[in-house]
Amino acid sequence: MPSSFVPVIGLEVHFELKTASKMFCSCSADHFHRPANTNLCPTCLGLPGALPVPNQKAIEMTALMALAVGAKINRRFLFERKNYFYPDLPKGYQISQHILPIGEGGAVPILLEGEYVAVALHDIHLEEDTAKLEHHGNEVWIDFNRSGVPLVEVVTQPVLHSAAAAKAYVKRIQQLVRWLGISNADMEKGSMRLEANISLAPQPGDGKKIKLPNYRVEVKNLNSFRFVEKAINYEIERQKRVWQSGQQPVQETRGFDPQRGVTFSQRRKEVAKDYRYFPDPDIPPLELTSTVIEKLKKQLPRLPWEEEKMWQEKYGFDWQLSQTLVANAEARHFWQMLVPRIKNRDQAQKIAKLIVNKPDRWQGKKPAQFWQEWQKEQSERLGGAQLAAIVAQVIEQETKAVADYRRGKVNVIGYLLGQVQRLTQGKADPQEARQLLEQKLAKNG
Ligand SMILES: [Zn+2]
Repeated sequence: MPSSFVPVIGLEVHFELKTASKMFCSCSADHFHRPANTNLCPTCLGLPGALPVPNQKAIEMTALMALAVGAKINRRFLFERKNYFYPDLPKGYQISQHILPIGEGGAVPILLEGEYVAVALHDIHLEEDTAKLEHHGNEVWIDFNRSGVPLVEVVTQPVLHSAAAAKAYVKRIQQLVRWLGISNADMEKGSMRLEANISLAPQPGDGKKIKLPNYRVEVKNLNSFRFVEKAINYEIERQKRVWQSGQQPVQETRGFDPQRGVTFSQRRKEVAKDYRYFPDPDIPPLELTSTVIEKLKKQLPRLPWEEEKMWQEKYGFDWQLSQTLVANAEARHFWQMLVPRIKNRDQAQKIAKLIVNKPDRWQGKKPAQFWQEWQKEQSERLGGAQLAAIVAQVIEQETKAVADYRRGKVNVIGYLLGQVQRLTQGKADPQEARQLLEQKLAKNG
């Protein structure tokens, strides 16, 4: 039995596309807030004889996603039948993609402790969503409104090694699909859902590659970022205990119970051959023409990680500032409207930090008004020798707080800063005041 392990994690992220109609029929794809079973037709109910007609818009959105992550586009692709029996699937199979998906490979850059790491993808494929099951006591009710809504699945390679990395990746996917305008990716509503495949590999020797384990545990029902992290951490600990007891964890599908924060066994995990995939005889192989691919390439905006790097290079932002700014749509929009007025790095950093940290200072304001107020404030800012004198005065008066600070209660610096602001009627430059305080407190110890 190995003494230490490396978690090996792969993720499958599903998101519903924001198309007008469903994947293979003309019913509305917007299935939220509708009375149950009012958004359907023979095709999405799986009635015999109904024929599927693929949604071109959904195919293009999937290809746009594939282009954004640098995947290889299969110009000729297939829809296949994935056979399994479950009440949410009226046909007894789901139309999906297996051997020729729209996108193969590619990578998604995430930020991990300030470093960009590329998460390698296996594929990006398009399928139809299933009906929704509701449990009422001993009864299960089926609502087919969601049945047939276009659903994209992005599958990673087993290249993630921590719950934190998995969470960062899922957040990045959500950001990206919203950025591309192809999905609302709302986890609370279920328009984005995910599954994690987790196993433990023996820690390889220095410079050696991780040897992939010959089992994996799939965890379902991870419908928030917090649950992703919790479930993965729980599973890592659970599998460690199984290994340490001298056994190998079994390949299975487990659910996650958010109340208890634990995973629980559901069933033996299927492998691809259990699904008996075969090309759907009702849908011929399809083709993405070069005209369509060229059109999509032109549509592709600057991507989130490209924009993060752009602010880092142009204005010297640290990765946290650029990441937070780019991730918050409202803040980013306001910032973009201010950029033409900004003259230098110092201004850029001060304004970006203000936008990220103090939304009340700009929300509901026009950029011109904000800019005027900010400039006025800057001109009245107290700094230099004047500020140093006031800081010295505060340190002399606040003997108790100063003594507390020097005993290690560094939080009192907030109180001391407050005193500086009181004496300056709030005009002290907060960053400069903090620096001065820290210098002086460290010096006369
Ligand atoms: Zn329909």
